[in-house]
Amino acid sequence: MLHTNLSVNEQGHLTIAGVDSVYLAEKYGTPVYLLDEDRVRERARTYVTAMRQYFGEHSRPLFASKALSFRGIYKIAAEEGMCVDIVSSGELYTALSAGFPAKDMYFHGNNKTDADIEYAIECGIGTFIVDNFEELQAIEACAARHGIRQEVLLRVTPGIDPHTYAAVNTGKVDCQFGISIETGQAAAFVGEILKCAHVNLRGFHCHIGSQIFDQIPFCDAADIMIRFIADMKAAYGYEAEVLNLGGGFGVRYVESDPEIDIAENIRLVAEHVAARCTEFGVPYPVILMEPGRSIVADAGVTLYTVGSVKTIEGYRSYVSIDGGMSDNPRYALYGSEYTVHVANRMNEPADFLCSVAGRCCETGALIQENVTLPRPQRGDILAVLVTGAYNYSMASNYNRICRPPIVLLSGGKDRLAVRRETFADLTACELDI
Ligand SMILES: *Cc1c(COP(=O)(O)O)cnc(C)c1O
Repeated sequence: MLHTNLSVNEQGHLTIAGVDSVYLAEKYGTPVYLLDEDRVRERARTYVTAMRQYFGEHSRPLFASKALSFRGIYKIAAEEGMCVDIVSSGELYTALSAGFPAKDMYFHGNNKTDADIEYAIECGIGTFIVDNFEELQAIEACAARHGIRQEVLLRVTPGIDPHTYAAVNTGKVDCQFGISIETGQAAAFVGEILKCAHVNLRGFHCHIGSQIFDQIPFCDAADIMIRFIADMKAAYGYEAEVLNLGGGFGVRYVESDPEIDIAENIRLVAEHVAARCTEFGVPYPVILMEPGRSIVADAGVTLYTVGSVKTIEGYRSYVSIDGGMSDNPRYALYGSEYTVHVANRMNEPADFLCSVAGRCCETGALIQENVTLPRPQRGDILAVLVTGAYNYSMASNYNRICRPPIVLLSGGKDRLAVRRETFADLTACELDI
């Protein structure tokens, strides 16, 4: 199987975290998001432990909660000793309502509104990751009104394209997030931040991308960032205490994706950072990382029920399921790869080539193309693997489809963490006109 938390039982049913998926489909209905809580905790511990061991005791992973945001996940993050990234007041509210401490939150985003800044400062947010000049001014003004000195990191773009493993002059510099090092704008911006009486610049942040399968892009980014730290020391006598290297190691969605040893990659990045700090004569910073997908993705499986199998003579076959881009828009958005199984017939030969279509009224609303399955029938349970990240958090009510529930699996037991939406939920915000 693709991951060690998946198996097949005597009835030929897919199990996740030791629980029969067919039983879960019957108990909760479909579509349903399953989340292996033990695996989420194990991943969190891998990061927490390896970062502390190799980067130093103050180093922490920040769970990038845009990957999966609901109250329960913030509780798990807190229990496992992670901080969290949030990108909106809605995520901030959700985390707070789960009891997550505001001081351990990092507020991201390229357009934090005045209302976001006010709300976050009122709640005692730990850190803003400052993205632009207007935001800096708004934070300075709001912090002054509250009589505080707000901690911030500055988001810069190091100009790394993680998929070519090279520092490039354009590409990632040309994006809506952060301030470019290469153009000199980041250095000038540091001067502006240092003039702010109510803002305390703790250090720098960069995020070079997602689905990175080894340490090399992080080392390349660290090279540029540590040189920048040294340059800022030379220019302003400013010593950065924190270096945030962003998200996130890659995840195995299909057999052809590699499996990565997160702890070993962290060790290699740490070695590299230590060497560069010595070379550039800067103190070893507190290193932060922002894993999202690699904490939750492979803990998730979505179950659907097959409705129809349609073969278009001379073309292809479509298997239609009772969910779709409303609960998983990633194939429609990015052509993302997924592994698909018929969960109730795992031992039958997979010899039927087909595309899996959702029920949304769009031709592009597919879940996956060209998969081979045992020929499905109406009523079969279809499992799409590795859906723990960017599925529930990107779900919509398109076509007025109710969002599925989230069921947590732990120690062989299942419990509901998010209930299924009802039709009443769909019209809850609507007024009679
Ligand atoms: C999306 C994002 C992450 C998380 O990326 P993953 O691929 O989910 O690990 C971390 N930091 C920032 C700034 C992001 O935008």
